[in-house]
This record gives sequence, C-alpha cells and structure tokens, in this order.
Amino acid sequence: MPESTWSASPRSASAEPAEDARQLSPRSESERVDAVQSGPDPERLAEVAQHVREILSLLGEDPARPGLLDTPNRVAKMFAEMLSGMHVQPEDVLTTTFEERSDGPVVVSNITFYSLCEHHMVPFFGTAHVAYLPGERIVGLSKIARLVDAVSHRLQVQERMTQQIVDGIDEILKPHGAIALVEAQHTCMCARGVRKPGSSTTTLASTGEYRDNYALRQEFLRMIGR
Ligand code: ZN
Repeated sequence: MPESTWSASPRSASAEPAEDARQLSPRSESERVDAVQSGPDPERLAEVAQHVREILSLLGEDPARPGLLDTPNRVAKMFAEMLSGMHVQPEDVLTTTFEERSDGPVVVSNITFYSLCEHHMVPFFGTAHVAYLPGERIVGLSKIARLVDAVSHRLQVQERMTQQIVDGIDEILKPHGAIALVEAQHTCMCARGVRKPGSSTTTLASTGEYRDNYALRQEFLRMIGR
C-alpha cells in the first residue's frame, strides 16, 4: 500500500515547526484525547486572538471599535473549530466496525463539508460521495460522514482531501475497493483572484477494484446520480 496520505499535510524536514508547543491543535495521542474532552487550550486561543488583533491594526482597522472588540476571540475559536481535524487519524473516527457479509457496495452520498484552502485560508465547501466494497468488515454509516469531517477540518487542498477519504477507509476497513467523488466551490476562486462565482471543482480518488474496474466506477457514478 502506498504511504498513507493521512498525516495532516506533507511536511519537509525544514518546515517542521520548531515550537510544537505553540500549535493550536494537539499532536500526540494523549493530547488528542485531552483536546476532545476539554477543547482547545484557552491560553493558545488567547494568543491567536492577540495576533488577530495585530492583523486588524496592520490592515488599518481599529480593533478597539465596538464592532470589532470581540472579533479576535471569535476568529481564534473559529480556526480552532475549522482545524479540529488536523491531528485526527482514521482509527479515531472509523471506530465500531462490524463483521458482516455484504456483496454489494456501500454508498453514502451528499455528505456536506466545509474546509479551509491551505493556500488562502478561506473556505471551500461542497459535497462528498463515498463508496466502498466491503471485505470482512463494515462500519456505521455516520462514521463515513465523520471521516469526511475529519479530513475537511484542516488546512487542505481538495485533491488531497479526496485521497485521504479513500485511504482512511482502505486502512481501517480493508475493503475490496473504495471511491470518493468531491465537488466543491472555492471562495478563493469566487471572491478574489479570477473571480468566477459558480464554478465548481470535482475530484475523484479510488482504490482496489474501484480503481481497476470501469463497470464498478460507472455503477458508483450512476448510484450518486451522475
Ligand atoms: Zn485558495
């Protein structure tokens, strides 16, 4: 199997942050468990808010005017929430699998998601359609949606997000194949830059029989109404 794409992002050795303690999201397993139970560290949130206040000043705003007073705190909390999947692993979300014989594909369609484009830190959002051909095990259907949440709640590019969905299913369920089709609108393309509102981007990733069997792929596309 190719190296998992599940680490939060491909890092080069030199890009490794020197001060891990300053990360907004926890990294180790025990830190992850703590964060799930207690939410993000309030001291880190306050520090992020302070930086947002400085950005507002640098942009020529008055962070002390009434409308902006609590904005830095809201922005800090928003980033904590939107990046809450940064260190979540597939085994954290694809819990409770069942041994079950199933010949047909399991298709979960129209899973809505919101993510943050890692190039501009603005949202891209849309729907994911996911299917797998069970091997020995199946998983609760809501867990597939949780998997999409986990990979979208981090700084992302749509291509990697789509791959991480099928790799996560592959790793935990060991199916005969998995496939994901993601359709999204990128606000960095709609509101700035080339300004093309309404344009959408479609990405597809597949493994196993879904990668190798044209008829199976066609069946998937038909089942999600394509
Ligand atoms: Zn972007």
